[in-house]
Amino acid sequence: MAVIVQKFGGTSVANAEKIRAAARRAVEAKRGGYDVVVVVSARGHKTDELVELAKEITSHPRPREMDMLLSTGEQESVALMAMAVHELGEEAISLTGAQIGVLTDTTHTKARIVSISTKRMQELLKAGNIVIAAGFQGVDAEMNITTLGRGGSDTTATALAAVLNAELCEIYTDVEGIFTTDPRLVPEARKVEHISYDEMLELASLGAGVMHSRSIEFAKKYRVQLRVRPAYSDGPGTLIAPESDEVTSVVTGVAFVRYEAMITLVGLPDQPGVMSTLFSSLSAAKIPVDMVVQNVAREGTANVTFTVAEDELPDALTVANAAAASLQAQDVVATTGLSKVSVVGHGMQTHTGVAARMFQVLAAHGINIRVVTTSEIKISVLIDRSRCNDAVQAAHSGFELNKVTSSLPQVGCASNGHRSGSVDVASPELTADIVSRLDSMESIVVSDITADIDQSRVTLSNLPDDPGIAEAVFTAIAEGGVLVDMIVQNAARDGQATISFTVPRSDLDCAILLLREVMETYAGSIVTSDRRIGKISVAGIGLRSHTEVGARMFRCLAANSINVEMINTSELKLCVVISANEADLAMTQLRSEFGLDTNV
Ligand code: ASP
Ligand code: MG
Repeated sequence: MAVIVQKFGGTSVANAEKIRAAARRAVEAKRGGYDVVVVVSARGHKTDELVELAKEITSHPRPREMDMLLSTGEQESVALMAMAVHELGEEAISLTGAQIGVLTDTTHTKARIVSISTKRMQELLKAGNIVIAAGFQGVDAEMNITTLGRGGSDTTATALAAVLNAELCEIYTDVEGIFTTDPRLVPEARKVEHISYDEMLELASLGAGVMHSRSIEFAKKYRVQLRVRPAYSDGPGTLIAPESDEVTSVVTGVAFVRYEAMITLVGLPDQPGVMSTLFSSLSAAKIPVDMVVQNVAREGTANVTFTVAEDELPDALTVANAAAASLQAQDVVATTGLSKVSVVGHGMQTHTGVAARMFQVLAAHGINIRVVTTSEIKISVLIDRSRCNDAVQAAHSGFELNKVTSSLPQVGCASNGHRSGSVDVASPELTADIVSRLDSMESIVVSDITADIDQSRVTLSNLPDDPGIAEAVFTAIAEGGVLVDMIVQNAARDGQATISFTVPRSDLDCAILLLREVMETYAGSIVTSDRRIGKISVAGIGLRSHTEVGARMFRCLAANSINVEMINTSELKLCVVISANEADLAMTQLRSEFGLDTNV
């Protein structure tokens, strides 16, 4: 029989009435012919209350005891849910993480799943039970109770759906589904019908907040179809599934992270190994880095900027200062009060002018862009926090996200091909193959490493650090129909900004021509280019929640004396630009570093 997993969040099981309603859904599915597994969170604010209670006892609760404590919230919910199902006349049995056999590592309060045994669940389902599983918890090899980190029930549900090969995993929650942006900020925000894993990953990590991003990584890895639905109505919610062929809109959503801070290391020597030192220290200190930006070096020195959540800034600065001292950097500059705003959508792989539109919209509101990074499906800008709401609203209306289909003119003079590399780089078969070789279900999957040697780099320097510059540049480029791939703008120095981007090599001359007029209006600005660059992308799942991938990538490049010229990161990929001559070497070395077949 087909299996369905239904997960109910805290608000959806807050009281007896809601528990009964949730039980009715499970019973309906069972009577509709499914084998049903229900995953529940702790009721209402139970987990928060338990955290508070522990704080009243000690400011330093030991993580093992926190897990022992917090797991009780879910244990209470499963028992009540089973009783509610019994009342409706069906068989149900509640199980804790340990009883199911959710084996995790020993990292208390943020454990990762190692494996899940399906035996007991299968037997119980076969005997006609609805299985009610406690979310968020597992057990390590020594039988210590562990938890998966706040919001972890989503991950439990997705993981159970994966191992049981469920037809669908329904996530019942207190919202209508996934929206084009936060409806509290933009009342016209619209619920979307369908979103791809990659778009959702970019949005979730950017603060869309509806789901635990580890659960999306899981869903993508195991191809679990997820449906986020309201618990309080029959609304169909949003389907999170592989990318569909018809792209209805160029941009799917606007996301933001309100509290970001950035650190710039100024005047780093432009030589192999520098990045490796910096990112190994950050990774060793377990500091989650968000954006990483390095623009092309000038006069032998490079500046690197990275962002962290604002409350991580003190720790990140300690690490950055130590790394800067050992690398003999000229300066370390920290900036607070920033927000990151991003537009996400598969459509930008094939439509020109998305960057131009984004920058136009921001310029029209006088919003200055501090830093830019892009991926194939995302453009992110770092701006002053005081303008965060304005920027989100402006981008939402600028891309007409209130409408079901928005369009962007597809102009063209140039080659007008697809942006290089597809986001879903690994075929499902390839991913499945890699996954089957994992010892641990949540291990990082570097699914592919690709080199693109058909692009050129353009760098514009000595630009004024004012609103409207990026707009002027990318509007000119878009008007010529050139598809821009990677865009990097680092933090301005001494009032001057530098923007680099890559274009198909066949469009390089066209791009430079298109820029001539704009650049003439900014006295002193300089255009340089490199016709033959190598762009290397390390793509996969979980790159961000596994901070060591960046460190490993840079270490590997450094060990082979390969200098990194430009860096750009997203949830899905780490991209570096190196010299084209070194692309082959980089590919071979990185493929062996991450255990990918070197013959592919
Ligand atoms: N009860 C846990 C929490 O609040 C897990 C969850 O709700 O997903 O973080
Ligand atoms: Mg939750």
